[in-house]
Amino acid sequence: MPPDYEEFKRRADAVRARIAEACARAGRNGGEVELLAVTKSQPAAAVEMAARYGLRAVGENRVQEGIEKRAQTAAPVAWELIGHLQSNKARLAVRHYERIQSVDSARLLEILDRAAEEQGKSQAVLLQVNAGLDPAKSGVEPDGAERLLEVALGRKNLRVEGLMAIAPLSPDPAVARRTFARLREIRDRLASATGARLRELSMGMSGDLEAAIAEGSTLVRVGTALFGERA
Ligand SMILES: *Cc1c(COP(=O)(O)O)cnc(C)c1O
Repeated sequence: MPPDYEEFKRRADAVRARIAEACARAGRNGGEVELLAVTKSQPAAAVEMAARYGLRAVGENRVQEGIEKRAQTAAPVAWELIGHLQSNKARLAVRHYERIQSVDSARLLEILDRAAEEQGKSQAVLLQVNAGLDPAKSGVEPDGAERLLEVALGRKNLRVEGLMAIAPLSPDPAVARRTFARLREIRDRLASATGARLRELSMGMSGDLEAAIAEGSTLVRVGTALFGERA
């Protein structure tokens, strides 16, 4: 069960305060970091709370779950796919998501580009990088990121807005911090190598958003801290 709106608002205010404090500590402007509400495993009511609070977008990690939820609400939010995308769902993802954050292969880029062309859409994407070198995580390996970006930049129906990473699960907070620092270094290197702006750095979740903001995150993806533990 999601919290009621008053409870949600208290939690969201607290997350916003954490973001503001982390920005202040990093000498960054609080407006540089957006809060994405991760509504996976939550009902459509959670999306409505996020919209009522004024959040721009929600994140879902399963294509089909997000599509079903989207059909149940007219909440004025953008839908972002943050979970692994299989190529057989790519066409559906283009139809139903404003941005896809989990693009990690040339083959997927090709299928997304073709689907976007057929649907007359310019599809926003982020490239997911396995910046933590975590065998359990998807994402392009750091060494392959530049090649993948070049493929993406050659696809005329895709707009590459930046990079995304998930830190490995670890009891040591230095692991997340290093992962985020690495994603930022990769972004800076790729931006200067290709001239692409790569404005968005999607990194940081409920447990590690401070470290991500210290390393330059522009978008934190937060579920548990807004809606409580998932069932
Ligand atoms: C579930 C999920 C999140 C949110 O995680 P919380 O710890 O609940 O904040 C963020 N990003 C991705 C890719 C996720 O799958």
